[in-house]
Amino acid sequence: MSDTLFSKIINREIPADILYEDDQALAFSDINPQAPVHFLVIPKKPIATINDIEPEDREVIGHLYLVAAKLAKEMGFAEEGYRAVMNCNPYGGQTVYHIHLHVLAGKPMGWPPY
Ligand code: IMP
Repeated sequence: MSDTLFSKIINREIPADILYEDDQALAFSDINPQAPVHFLVIPKKPIATINDIEPEDREVIGHLYLVAAKLAKEMGFAEEGYRAVMNCNPYGGQTVYHIHLHVLAGKPMGWPPY
């Protein structure tokens, strides 16, 4: 897989507002927020889309949700609620081909999402 923008953020080649980092994952603020709180949680492993998740990626994918929930609690919006969503390919609205969990909070979310 070719390098994306998000690999460059992981490698500190481009700046980002980093909220959390560990050996498997990175969380940073979305540059174009769609809610009062909007950040992305990404695996350090460059997986292009949900379709490219392999069985050995189970743990890291679960870890993304644990990071999202940890930050939600720390940032104080866990009880109020939030949306955690991953877009896949063009119809899903994916634009960066390094999977990322969007975490959106701070206002009621609509459904359906269009
Ligand atoms: P997607 O459309 O689901 O692939 O989401 C990609 C997200 O990455 C969008 O919400 C963008 O606003 C966000 N994004 C693009 N470039 C940057 C950046 O340099 N820093 C932080 N977020 C970015």
